[in-house]
Amino acid sequence: MAVQRTLSIIKPDAVAKNVIGDIIRRFEENGLSVIATNMIHLSAEQAGRFYAVHAERPFYKDLCSFMSSGPVLAMCLEGKNAIALNRQLMGATNPKEAEEGTIRADHADSIDANAVHGSDSEENAAIEIDFFFSNLDINSRL
Ligand code: ADP
Ligand code: MG
Repeated sequence: MAVQRTLSIIKPDAVAKNVIGDIIRRFEENGLSVIATNMIHLSAEQAGRFYAVHAERPFYKDLCSFMSSGPVLAMCLEGKNAIALNRQLMGATNPKEAEEGTIRADHADSIDANAVHGSDSEENAAIEIDFFFSNLDINSRL
């Protein structure tokens, strides 16, 4: 399986719950390495640009307002099959449907406040990593 990079965001709800360490522990215990971090309080405009693919969805405005409601921790993760592995560790978008033991099952309160973001494809991972990080911020651990 190929080594990949993916973007993870610990969303404002999980940062506020002080579970950053628990979430990163799950990544590390499953073979993913943190190779860049950026704690940032996004403006609504920045959140809107990040989630531009969802601009036509009915929840877009609420999503941008939630994502700019407090600081987030953006991270670049590296490892074998990182994109799908991160999605698996996250669990389903709606925490009610998330498998037991996943980050969202354990830490998300609702489909809006669902603790984490993860890139869904190689193409989007590259775009999303580039949104938060310059090459100089990324420290490969291979
Ligand atoms: P994921 O984060 O699992 O990749 P999506 O890309 O489909 O999910 O949606 C992006 C984010 O938008 C979700 O994480 C969630 O916070 C929010 N969202 C998605 N669907 C809904 C919905 N039906 N109602 C409210 N918020 C939603
Ligand atoms: Mg998505």
